[in-house]
Amino acid sequence: MADTITLNIDGKEVQGRPGMTVLQVAQAAGVYIPTLCYHPLLEPYGGCRMCIVEIEKMRGLPPACTTPAANGMVVKTYTPQLQELRRAVLEMVLSEHPHGCLTCERRERCQPGDVCLRNVAVTERCVLCPKNYRCELQVVADYIGMVGHEIKLAYSYRGLPLETMDPFLSRDYNLCILCGRCVRVCQEVRVNGCLAFTYRGSQALVGTAFGRPHTESGCEFCGACVDICPVGTHMEKGTLWGGFGDRSVTTTCPYCGTGCQLKLEVKGQNILRVRPDPDAWNQGQGCVKGRFGIREFVHHPERLTTPLIKKDGRFEPASWEEALDLVARKFSSYKPDEMAVFCAGKCTNEDNYVMQKFARAVLKTNNIDHCARLCHAPTIPGLLQTFGSGAMTNPINDLANSELIFVIGANTTFAHPVIGMKVKQATRQGKKLIVANPREIELVRFADVWLRLNPSSDVALLMGMARAIVEAGLEDREFIAQRCENYEAFRESLDRFDHAFVEKTTGIPWETVDQAARLYAQTRPAAILYAMGITQSTHGTDNVTAVANLAMLTGNVGKPGAGVDPLRGHNNVQGSCDMGGLPEYFPGYQRVDNPEMRKKFEAAWGTDLPPTPGLTLSEIVHAAYTRELKALYLMGENIALSEPCVTMCQGAMEELEFLVVQDLFLSETAKLAQVVLPACSFAEKDGTYTNTERRVQRVRKAIDPVGDSRPDWWIVCQIARRLRGKGFDYEHPSQIMAETARLVPQYGGISYARLDSGGLQWPCPTPDHPGTPILHTQTFTRGKGHFLPLEYRPPAELPDKAYPLILTTERSIYQFHTGTLSRRVKGLNDLHGEEWVEMNPRDAQGLGIATGDVVRVTSRRGEVEALALVTEASPPGVVAMTFHFVESPTNVLTNPAVDPVAKIPEFKFCAIRVEKVDGKREVHPKGVEAVTR
Ligand code: SF4
Repeated sequence: MADTITLNIDGKEVQGRPGMTVLQVAQAAGVYIPTLCYHPLLEPYGGCRMCIVEIEKMRGLPPACTTPAANGMVVKTYTPQLQELRRAVLEMVLSEHPHGCLTCERRERCQPGDVCLRNVAVTERCVLCPKNYRCELQVVADYIGMVGHEIKLAYSYRGLPLETMDPFLSRDYNLCILCGRCVRVCQEVRVNGCLAFTYRGSQALVGTAFGRPHTESGCEFCGACVDICPVGTHMEKGTLWGGFGDRSVTTTCPYCGTGCQLKLEVKGQNILRVRPDPDAWNQGQGCVKGRFGIREFVHHPERLTTPLIKKDGRFEPASWEEALDLVARKFSSYKPDEMAVFCAGKCTNEDNYVMQKFARAVLKTNNIDHCARLCHAPTIPGLLQTFGSGAMTNPINDLANSELIFVIGANTTFAHPVIGMKVKQATRQGKKLIVANPREIELVRFADVWLRLNPSSDVALLMGMARAIVEAGLEDREFIAQRCENYEAFRESLDRFDHAFVEKTTGIPWETVDQAARLYAQTRPAAILYAMGITQSTHGTDNVTAVANLAMLTGNVGKPGAGVDPLRGHNNVQGSCDMGGLPEYFPGYQRVDNPEMRKKFEAAWGTDLPPTPGLTLSEIVHAAYTRELKALYLMGENIALSEPCVTMCQGAMEELEFLVVQDLFLSETAKLAQVVLPACSFAEKDGTYTNTERRVQRVRKAIDPVGDSRPDWWIVCQIARRLRGKGFDYEHPSQIMAETARLVPQYGGISYARLDSGGLQWPCPTPDHPGTPILHTQTFTRGKGHFLPLEYRPPAELPDKAYPLILTTERSIYQFHTGTLSRRVKGLNDLHGEEWVEMNPRDAQGLGIATGDVVRVTSRRGEVEALALVTEASPPGVVAMTFHFVESPTNVLTNPAVDPVAKIPEFKFCAIRVEKVDGKREVHPKGVEAVTR
């Protein structure tokens, strides 16, 4: 088949590719054909009849959006007959669409409360419509020649009430032109299907099924309907009267590791609204937090605007000079081993690079860690020892090439909503899905096989699947022989995982394990996604290793659609690891105890550096508790809520002689500090984040720093310079990235100039290297893929008579981490604003607990109170809570026992008991929805 086809459109020869429609060929050639229902993200629909064209030798007037282009076609897009027919159809649309906006002479000067000159019935609409001046109906009407054209049909206003009950959106279906884009984007792209056409004929309407409020319809408030609506039916609340911005700034979302590209629409020093970037890899898609959860926290009145120094137990505002001098003076009074610093997964690469350089080169300590220790620490040793690189092997959009996706230990639609959306899209295209999760997460509805394993039995399940594959002879022998080593030792270790052991340990019948294993091995290419469900465990490194073993066994590494994909939590937790925010690694995973590496960094930074790995996060907290550690400098972390057994952690912070916290808000940890330094938000500074797929992307300054806040890198440099640190005289973060590129081979070709035209995936070793979307294509980073034998180890703390239930921790789609940012957004709190204790009806009945009851949850470390939610989503014996709410700090309960290699605590498993206490509260429907959809 030829690669190109040639068409004649309006007398011009244009080229296209086989499979394109006439509309796509025309658009690619710059020929405008009016449409209202077409959108490049959606399947062709042909409903609005605006894109009708004349095609030689073809009867009738076919819609260009559904007509396949063919070689030699002769197409006319603009003839009197076409325009007349389009006008007739558009008249019908406009006879039902309040169109004061098209005709009102005052529209540019309209203010709320003005009296409309034209049409009293539509007064509100023409001034309220946020699509005014961007309305696609206006553009089409103009092209078709409606200007000056008298509409003969009687105008009818439907008088439907404005829907305003949702926290972020309001909807005016009087404006709806029934193009169906919102219905289709919700179904085809978001795979939610919470919008539908309701009623028929002249009564036809778009709305939720049964007219339910969106809070009860399955809506996830992603805003895709707002962005795709060609008119103003779906509107964003809270910005209607803000007008339009004077600039648009492209940047990266500050919430999860997906790293969606966003456009901030800014007027003066105000962010008016945020939209996912339609031209970026995320194709205009984001989630509720990225779309609606930014403006409010950036402009929140509780932002820290000046340094604070605690005097007599109270914070008092201080000047930068005073605060920085004090911090420098105090740090100069301690020995290196008495100090530690925390980098941050939410700060930029540049902030993190400077912070670890400060610790190593100025404080002379490797006591550096950050939140990666609490989420994906096992990914680094687990994948380093098997593959040689502890990062996601394939890009997010490569999931479209997978024939099967295996999701283990990840509630993807909640924790990484845009990646979850891609998984759902794949199932819509008939791709297979296996979900391994003790809880009935949303993806279970889309799965071909659901492996409801007992909590913390992942190694038994994964090794059991490997055994089933080997028993069925489905291993990829050629891949194993050519690309891997140590296979025999691994195969022998499978003997330990006989059918009875696997069944007993996982709670899953062997037939189901076998079915999943065969499906995974036979449906190639297959990708494995995993997250904290397997890493936050005392055997997290084993879990990750087991995933890597399984992928190598089936040859699912180094190919499009295959791979092992750890989904990182914070926006820049990948980057903060890359930048050396770890006790054993310089930037680029170059070990501090490797003399050659150390020499390289000593030469670059002009000073001697400490030669042994420092303390990990939990070890730092413990050393503070025992007073071996005296001073801690913490950037953007809120460990007083995120550490396991937070009561002990808070006690440890109080034991410190000197605690400095640098953050946007007075977090729970900042309240314990002696000095608080106000950092500015991502919207107020330049920098880069590296997302979960190793894509380095720009963060761009959109507004000036709020109050007297400053970029994190600037603050660290000021302290370093006061301590006579050399090499901290950067004037712009691009200079920090340039230094990173000189020292980190994976970042060698990355510069701000290159990132201007989009992100780059590391390794990108030279300025002309295009980046590396897929790792391990020819050889593994370490040479050969290394199989590792494994043994099953039980969790550190098992249920008993006193604590008969298992607690596992979860995440909400509406909140993020300890809520420092997301709890400042009213709409997110409206959707999920307090802690739920999710428990199975069987457990609840036995304890006399019903949904809405206040319950006390107790572990060996403490107790918290929260509301009960009785749901089948939790299996019998298992209770789930998030950790977003300071009012019910779940991490009071969790177990600080750590994985011996990665030193990550066991957040996913501890023994608890639950009892009812006095009180019951009204249950918000979205609360139930938030955790059970
Ligand atoms: Fe932001 Fe993650 Fe949501 Fe994307 S999926 S908009 S990165 S929170």
